[in-house]
Amino acid sequence: MTESGMSRRRLFGTALAAGFAATGCGTAQSSTAAAQPSSTSRAARPVASDSAVVAKTGPAPQDNSPAAVVARHAGEQPRQWDVAMPGITSTFAFTGKQMALTFDACGGPGGNDMDESLVNFLIAQQIPATLFLNKRWIDANQERAARLALNPLFELGNHGVAHRPLSVNGRAAYGIKGTASAQEVVDEVWANHERLSGLVGRPPRFFRAGTAHYDEVAVDIVNELGEIPVGYSINADYGATASAAKVQAAMNAAAPGAISLAHMHRPQGGTGAGMIAALPTIRAMGFTFVHL
Ligand SMILES: [Zn+2]
Repeated sequence: MTESGMSRRRLFGTALAAGFAATGCGTAQSSTAAAQPSSTSRAARPVASDSAVVAKTGPAPQDNSPAAVVARHAGEQPRQWDVAMPGITSTFAFTGKQMALTFDACGGPGGNDMDESLVNFLIAQQIPATLFLNKRWIDANQERAARLALNPLFELGNHGVAHRPLSVNGRAAYGIKGTASAQEVVDEVWANHERLSGLVGRPPRFFRAGTAHYDEVAVDIVNELGEIPVGYSINADYGATASAAKVQAAMNAAAPGAISLAHMHRPQGGTGAGMIAALPTIRAMGFTFVHL
């Protein structure tokens, strides 16, 4: 089996201690259940003489259309604001020494480039990764996005429409104003959900908000829309600002089940060189890189 074939869908809850340098560490819970329709148990019920009546009296499946999700969460007041909390996947259920690499393409002014040396290195070394693409980046890089979508090394995740922190009441992170209502949260997720569905041929499974910040209502909304909010356990390039040496040092936190966060849109930064230096060493330590 190839590394990229060893995708793991079962997610688990223990966040690693490493990596939450600036933001504090929470505990991620399994979030797959929230994305699953709950029809199995009802299908197993005994059939009464009038099965039509039984069908009518059973609980209705939750409507997870964007409009229904907005209506369900309108006006809810959140209490949390962080990069890690229950419902966000910060680590994954590993088998042996596996870790997952994620790279964000943030899009917008200053964020629409691609680090070709990094992406070409991943391809040459056959290193799988999950790439979180912002809709503005896809729109500015349609040929590149189509090529990445065709390469089985890469799983494409949703990095939002306008790269806003995911809040229902306008919380900001790093000076970037967040979404300000349940409707704006859904809008930030959904147009790129549809864009990626068209690009890849199936809906994206994973979401990461711009700045990776969420409140707990937004986390619920993303899960109900069928995407799993993904955080990280290794902050590898500090928002694409770190030097190559600092990226390489951050990747020393490689651990089974770790999810690293770095950026692929800034070829002039240190991320590419740092990763190209670090990844062969991590492999030599016996790690394999896998999809989430
Ligand atoms: Zn980003």
